[in-house]
Amino acid sequence: MAAVFLVTLYEYSPLFYISVVFLCFLVTAAMVLGWFGFDVPVILRSSDDMETFLQTPEKKMVQVTNPFALEMDFGVASVTGGASVKPCCLEPCVLSCFWGCEMSALQEALHAHQHGQRLSTSQDFHAALHLCYHHCESFHVCVGHEELHTQIPVDWGITDFGWLPRERYPLVAVLTLAEPDARDVYNIVASVTVIHVPDDKYSLPARLLFQYLLTSHGNMYELKPLFMSADSGGISGAPDSEHTTSETPKEAGRLEQVADEDESWTEGMGRDCVVCQNAAVNRVLLPCRHACVCDSCLSHFQHCPICRSFVLESFTLMQAQTAEY
Ligand SMILES: [Zn+2]
Ligand SMILES: [Zn+2]
Repeated sequence: MAAVFLVTLYEYSPLFYISVVFLCFLVTAAMVLGWFGFDVPVILRSSDDMETFLQTPEKKMVQVTNPFALEMDFGVASVTGGASVKPCCLEPCVLSCFWGCEMSALQEALHAHQHGQRLSTSQDFHAALHLCYHHCESFHVCVGHEELHTQIPVDWGITDFGWLPRERYPLVAVLTLAEPDARDVYNIVASVTVIHVPDDKYSLPARLLFQYLLTSHGNMYELKPLFMSADSGGISGAPDSEHTTSETPKEAGRLEQVADEDESWTEGMGRDCVVCQNAAVNRVLLPCRHACVCDSCLSHFQHCPICRSFVLESFTLMQAQTAEY
Protein backbone atom coordinates (compact mmCIF):
# COMPACT_ATOMS: atom_id res chain seq x y z
CA MET A 1 0.00 0.00 0.00
CA ALA A 2 2.71 2.42 1.08
CA ALA A 3 4.81 1.53 -1.96
CA VAL A 4 1.94 2.20 -4.28
CA PHE A 5 1.35 5.48 -2.52
CA LEU A 6 5.03 6.48 -2.89
CA VAL A 7 5.10 5.56 -6.56
CA THR A 8 1.97 7.58 -7.15
CA LEU A 9 3.46 10.48 -5.27
CA TYR A 10 6.70 10.17 -7.24
CA GLU A 11 4.91 10.16 -10.55
CA TYR A 12 2.59 12.97 -9.85
CA SER A 13 4.38 15.33 -7.43
CA PRO A 14 7.55 17.12 -8.56
CA LEU A 15 7.66 18.54 -5.06
CA PHE A 16 8.38 15.05 -3.70
CA TYR A 17 11.51 14.36 -5.71
CA ILE A 18 12.73 17.90 -5.26
CA SER A 19 12.54 17.35 -1.50
CA VAL A 20 14.28 13.93 -1.79
CA VAL A 21 17.16 15.50 -3.73
CA PHE A 22 17.30 18.33 -1.20
CA LEU A 23 17.42 15.85 1.68
CA CYS A 24 20.28 13.96 0.02
CA PHE A 25 22.11 17.24 -0.41
CA LEU A 26 21.65 18.12 3.26
CA VAL A 27 22.95 14.73 4.41
CA THR A 28 26.01 15.00 2.16
CA ALA A 29 26.71 18.54 3.32
CA ALA A 30 26.38 17.50 6.93
CA MET A 31 28.85 14.67 6.45
CA VAL A 32 31.34 16.92 4.73
CA LEU A 33 31.11 19.49 7.48
CA GLY A 34 31.77 16.83 10.07
CA TRP A 35 28.51 16.98 11.92
CA PHE A 36 28.56 13.22 12.20
CA GLY A 37 32.05 13.10 13.56
CA PHE A 38 33.71 12.15 10.25
CA ASP A 39 37.04 13.88 9.94
CA VAL A 40 36.42 14.73 6.30
CA PRO A 41 37.62 18.35 6.46
CA VAL A 42 41.15 17.20 7.25
CA ILE A 43 41.82 16.84 3.54
CA LEU A 44 40.65 20.37 2.98
CA ARG A 45 43.20 22.03 5.22
CA SER A 46 46.94 22.07 5.02
CA SER A 47 48.93 21.81 8.22
CA ASP A 48 49.88 25.46 8.14
CA ASP A 49 46.32 26.74 7.88
CA MET A 50 45.61 25.92 11.49
CA GLU A 51 48.06 28.29 13.00
CA THR A 52 45.64 31.08 13.54
CA PHE A 53 44.11 28.77 16.13
CA LEU A 54 47.31 27.26 17.48
CA GLN A 55 49.62 30.10 18.38
CA THR A 56 53.21 29.07 18.99
CA PRO A 57 53.89 29.67 22.68
CA GLU A 58 56.41 32.37 23.42
CA LYS A 59 59.29 31.42 25.63
CA LYS A 60 59.80 33.64 28.65
CA MET A 61 63.25 35.15 28.39
CA VAL A 62 65.31 37.45 30.54
CA GLN A 63 68.03 39.61 29.15
CA VAL A 64 71.32 39.39 31.01
CA THR A 65 74.64 41.05 30.40
CA ASN A 66 77.48 38.66 29.88
CA PRO A 67 80.73 40.43 30.77
CA PHE A 68 82.81 37.73 29.08
CA ALA A 69 83.70 37.17 25.48
CA LEU A 70 86.50 35.11 24.08
CA GLU A 71 87.74 35.12 20.53
CA MET A 72 90.18 32.65 19.19
CA ASP A 73 92.17 32.17 16.05
CA PHE A 74 91.03 28.63 15.29
CA GLY A 75 93.13 28.37 12.15
CA VAL A 76 96.55 28.36 13.80
CA ALA A 77 95.91 26.62 17.12
CA SER A 78 97.68 23.35 17.83
CA VAL A 79 98.83 21.47 20.90
CA THR A 80 102.51 21.91 20.12
CA GLY A 81 102.25 25.47 18.80
CA GLY A 82 99.77 26.74 21.37
CA ALA A 83 96.71 28.87 20.85
CA SER A 84 96.04 32.57 20.56
CA VAL A 85 93.03 33.76 22.47
CA LYS A 86 91.60 37.23 22.65
CA PRO A 87 89.36 37.96 25.63
CA CYS A 88 87.06 40.95 25.08
CA CYS A 89 85.58 41.59 28.47
CA LEU A 90 83.60 44.42 29.98
CA GLU A 91 85.55 44.25 33.26
CA PRO A 92 89.10 43.30 34.20
CA CYS A 93 89.22 39.53 34.15
CA VAL A 94 91.41 36.57 34.88
CA LEU A 95 91.83 34.13 32.04
CA SER A 96 92.93 30.65 33.07
CA CYS A 97 93.85 28.23 30.31
CA PHE A 98 93.81 24.62 31.44
CA TRP A 99 95.56 22.36 28.92
CA GLY A 100 94.66 18.69 28.95
CA CYS A 101 91.95 19.14 31.55
CA GLU A 102 90.34 15.90 32.68
CA MET A 103 86.74 15.69 31.52
CA SER A 104 85.49 14.10 34.72
CA ALA A 105 87.20 16.72 36.89
CA LEU A 106 85.66 19.59 34.93
CA GLN A 107 82.21 18.04 34.90
CA GLU A 108 82.45 17.36 38.63
CA ALA A 109 83.49 20.94 39.32
CA LEU A 110 80.58 22.26 37.25
CA HIS A 111 78.23 19.89 39.02
CA ALA A 112 79.53 21.02 42.41
CA HIS A 113 78.98 24.64 41.40
CA GLN A 114 75.30 23.89 40.97
CA HIS A 115 75.17 22.28 44.38
CA GLY A 116 76.73 24.89 46.59
CA GLN A 117 80.44 24.87 45.86
CA ARG A 118 80.48 28.04 43.81
CA LEU A 119 83.08 28.71 41.17
CA SER A 120 83.54 32.45 40.92
CA THR A 121 87.29 33.05 40.98
CA SER A 122 90.19 31.45 39.20
CA GLN A 123 91.36 30.09 42.58
CA ASP A 124 88.03 28.31 42.91
CA PHE A 125 88.64 26.60 39.58
CA HIS A 126 92.17 25.62 40.51
CA ALA A 127 90.94 24.13 43.75
CA ALA A 128 88.00 22.34 42.12
CA LEU A 129 90.11 20.78 39.38
CA HIS A 130 92.62 19.27 41.88
CA LEU A 131 95.52 19.54 39.43
CA CYS A 132 93.67 17.27 37.01
CA TYR A 133 95.24 19.02 34.05
CA HIS A 134 98.60 19.04 32.35
CA HIS A 135 99.35 22.71 32.44
CA CYS A 136 97.65 25.92 33.47
CA GLU A 137 98.44 29.46 32.47
CA SER A 138 96.68 32.45 33.99
CA PHE A 139 96.53 35.95 32.61
CA HIS A 140 95.17 39.15 34.07
CA VAL A 141 93.21 40.78 31.33
CA CYS A 142 92.36 44.46 31.32
CA VAL A 143 89.36 45.82 29.48
CA GLY A 144 90.16 45.79 25.81
CA HIS A 145 91.07 43.45 23.04
CA GLU A 146 94.39 41.98 23.96
CA GLU A 147 95.68 38.88 22.20
CA LEU A 148 97.29 36.30 24.46
CA HIS A 149 99.27 33.24 23.59
CA THR A 150 99.02 30.12 25.67
CA GLN A 151 101.01 26.96 25.20
CA ILE A 152 102.17 23.86 27.07
CA PRO A 153 105.92 24.28 27.77
CA VAL A 154 107.75 22.60 24.87
CA ASP A 155 110.17 20.73 27.14
CA TRP A 156 107.28 18.84 28.73
CA GLY A 157 107.03 16.88 25.50
CA ILE A 158 103.23 16.75 25.44
CA THR A 159 102.14 16.52 21.83
CA ASP A 160 98.72 14.91 22.06
CA PHE A 161 96.02 13.77 24.48
CA GLY A 162 95.79 10.14 23.42
CA TRP A 163 93.57 8.16 21.13
CA LEU A 164 89.79 8.35 21.11
CA PRO A 165 87.78 8.08 23.27
CA ARG A 166 89.58 10.65 25.30
CA GLU A 167 89.54 11.51 28.94
CA ARG A 168 90.88 15.00 28.58
CA TYR A 169 89.71 18.17 26.93
CA PRO A 170 92.57 19.75 24.99
CA LEU A 171 91.95 23.28 26.24
CA VAL A 172 89.54 24.73 28.75
CA ALA A 173 89.56 28.53 28.90
CA VAL A 174 88.00 29.95 32.04
CA LEU A 175 87.22 33.63 32.41
CA THR A 176 86.44 35.03 35.84
CA LEU A 177 86.01 38.56 37.10
CA ALA A 178 89.20 39.96 38.64
CA GLU A 179 87.59 42.46 40.98
CA PRO A 180 85.27 41.33 43.79
CA ASP A 181 83.06 44.43 43.34
CA ALA A 182 82.29 43.44 39.77
CA ARG A 183 80.90 40.12 40.95
CA ASP A 184 78.03 41.96 42.61
CA VAL A 185 77.21 43.84 39.42
CA TYR A 186 76.96 40.87 37.08
CA ASN A 187 74.89 37.83 37.68
CA ILE A 188 77.31 35.86 35.51
CA VAL A 189 80.57 35.26 37.35
CA ALA A 190 82.45 32.84 35.13
CA SER A 191 82.62 31.62 31.57
CA VAL A 192 83.96 28.16 30.74
CA THR A 193 84.92 27.53 27.12
CA VAL A 194 85.98 24.06 26.04
CA ILE A 195 88.03 24.08 22.87
CA HIS A 196 89.26 21.28 20.68
CA VAL A 197 92.84 21.84 19.59
CA PRO A 198 94.31 19.55 16.92
CA ASP A 199 97.29 17.31 17.61
CA ASP A 200 99.11 14.38 15.99
CA LYS A 201 96.46 11.83 16.92
CA TYR A 202 93.32 13.82 16.25
CA SER A 203 93.87 16.44 13.63
CA LEU A 204 90.42 17.94 13.13
CA PRO A 205 90.79 21.72 13.04
CA ALA A 206 90.38 23.65 16.27
CA ARG A 207 86.83 24.43 17.20
CA LEU A 208 84.71 25.39 20.09
CA LEU A 209 83.13 22.35 21.70
CA PHE A 210 80.86 24.07 24.17
CA GLN A 211 80.64 27.05 26.41
CA TYR A 212 78.98 27.50 29.77
CA LEU A 213 78.18 30.58 31.77
CA LEU A 214 78.06 30.22 35.54
CA THR A 215 75.97 32.53 37.68
CA SER A 216 76.57 33.61 41.24
CA HIS A 217 73.41 31.75 42.24
CA GLY A 218 74.76 28.41 41.18
CA ASN A 219 73.07 28.16 37.80
CA MET A 220 74.84 27.03 34.70
CA TYR A 221 73.73 27.94 31.20
CA GLU A 222 75.06 26.57 27.99
CA LEU A 223 75.59 29.09 25.25
CA LYS A 224 74.16 27.98 21.95
CA PRO A 225 74.49 29.61 18.58
CA LEU A 226 71.56 31.00 16.64
CA PHE A 227 71.22 30.36 12.93
CA MET A 228 70.30 33.20 10.71
CA SER A 229 69.37 33.07 7.10
CA ALA A 230 71.84 35.39 5.52
CA ASP A 231 73.41 36.21 2.22
CA SER A 232 76.81 35.96 3.79
CA GLY A 233 76.15 32.66 5.52
CA GLY A 234 74.94 31.91 8.99
CA ILE A 235 76.27 33.61 12.05
CA SER A 236 76.46 30.42 13.94
CA GLY A 237 80.03 31.19 14.84
CA ALA A 238 81.72 32.34 17.97
CA PRO A 239 79.31 32.06 20.83
CA ASP A 240 80.78 34.93 22.73
CA SER A 241 78.57 37.84 23.12
CA GLU A 242 77.39 40.61 25.34
CA HIS A 243 73.82 40.22 24.23
CA THR A 244 72.63 37.09 25.82
CA THR A 245 69.16 36.17 26.70
CA SER A 246 68.52 33.42 29.12
CA GLU A 247 65.54 31.42 29.98
CA THR A 248 63.81 31.78 33.29
CA PRO A 249 65.67 30.02 36.09
CA LYS A 250 63.10 27.28 36.39
CA GLU A 251 63.96 26.24 32.88
CA ALA A 252 67.63 26.43 33.63
CA GLY A 253 70.13 24.47 31.69
CA ARG A 254 70.05 26.20 28.38
CA LEU A 255 70.79 29.68 27.36
CA GLU A 256 70.11 30.93 23.94
CA GLN A 257 72.83 33.07 22.72
CA VAL A 258 72.96 35.71 20.13
CA ALA A 259 76.15 35.51 18.18
CA ASP A 260 78.92 38.00 17.84
CA GLU A 261 77.86 41.38 19.09
CA ASP A 262 79.63 43.55 16.60
CA GLU A 263 79.34 43.62 12.84
CA SER A 264 77.79 40.27 12.08
CA TRP A 265 75.17 40.71 14.71
CA THR A 266 74.10 44.23 13.80
CA GLU A 267 74.02 43.15 10.17
CA GLY A 268 71.84 40.27 11.21
CA MET A 269 69.39 42.54 12.92
CA GLY A 270 68.79 44.48 9.72
CA ARG A 271 68.07 41.34 7.74
CA ASP A 272 64.64 40.90 6.28
CA CYS A 273 62.16 38.30 7.29
CA VAL A 274 62.44 35.37 4.87
CA VAL A 275 58.69 35.22 4.48
CA CYS A 276 57.46 38.75 3.90
CA GLN A 277 60.81 40.41 3.09
CA ASN A 278 59.27 43.45 4.62
CA ALA A 279 60.21 43.55 8.29
CA ALA A 280 63.36 42.81 10.22
CA VAL A 281 63.94 39.32 11.56
CA ASN A 282 62.94 39.34 15.19
CA ARG A 283 61.95 35.81 16.09
CA VAL A 284 63.98 32.77 16.92
CA LEU A 285 62.20 29.47 16.46
CA LEU A 286 62.82 26.64 18.88
CA PRO A 287 64.10 23.98 18.93
CA CYS A 288 65.86 24.52 15.58
CA ARG A 289 67.14 28.01 16.60
CA HIS A 290 66.59 29.52 13.17
CA ALA A 291 66.22 33.27 13.38
CA CYS A 292 64.32 33.93 10.17
CA VAL A 293 60.90 35.51 10.60
CA CYS A 294 59.43 38.77 11.82
CA ASP A 295 56.90 39.09 14.61
CA SER A 296 53.84 39.17 12.38
CA CYS A 297 54.81 36.27 10.13
CA LEU A 298 55.37 33.99 13.09
CA SER A 299 51.65 33.43 13.56
CA HIS A 300 51.33 31.98 10.04
CA PHE A 301 53.78 29.14 10.52
CA GLN A 302 53.92 26.04 12.59
CA HIS A 303 56.92 24.76 10.70
CA CYS A 304 60.21 26.55 10.35
CA PRO A 305 60.41 28.07 6.82
CA ILE A 306 64.10 27.13 6.65
CA CYS A 307 64.27 23.55 7.88
CA ARG A 308 60.57 22.59 8.13
CA SER A 309 60.96 21.35 11.67
CA PHE A 310 57.99 21.77 13.95
CA VAL A 311 58.10 24.98 15.98
CA LEU A 312 57.51 24.31 19.63
CA GLU A 313 58.32 27.74 20.96
CA SER A 314 59.79 31.03 19.91
CA PHE A 315 61.37 34.07 21.48
CA THR A 316 62.05 37.62 20.39
CA LEU A 317 65.52 38.89 19.65
CA MET A 318 64.73 42.46 20.59
CA GLN A 319 61.94 43.47 22.90
CA ALA A 320 59.97 46.41 21.53
CA GLN A 321 61.07 48.73 24.34
CA THR A 322 64.76 47.92 23.99
CA ALA A 323 64.91 47.82 20.22
CA GLU A 324 67.66 50.00 18.89
CA TYR A 325 67.51 49.16 15.25
ZN1 LIG B 1 57.67 38.63 7.94
ZN1 LIG C 1 64.57 25.73 11.44
